[in-house]
Amino acid sequence: MCFRPPSLSKPRECPACGKKVPRMSGKNLKNCPFCKAELPEETIPCPECGVEQPINNRVCKNCGFNGKPGSGDPLKRKDN
Ligand SMILES: [Zn+2]
Ligand SMILES: [Zn+2]
Repeated sequence: MCFRPPSLSKPRECPACGKKVPRMSGKNLKNCPFCKAELPEETIPCPECGVEQPINNRVCKNCGFNGKPGSGDPLKRKDN
């Protein structure tokens, strides 16, 4: 996603075994490599409207924000 915050480059933690799941570049692991538990889909809030959505979305499903300032629908912003 274009508006991926830097904090999301940290490894994820498996909710089942608690181990750090390494982040493969460009890949979203669906299962923990250690215990094979299913990992929850990663979501991040849109910086414009705050709606949680899959991390791989390039364009916000709610407001249409695509990483460029002003690209989102202002009517759908969270502070309106
Ligand atoms: Zn695990
Ligand atoms: Zn949005």
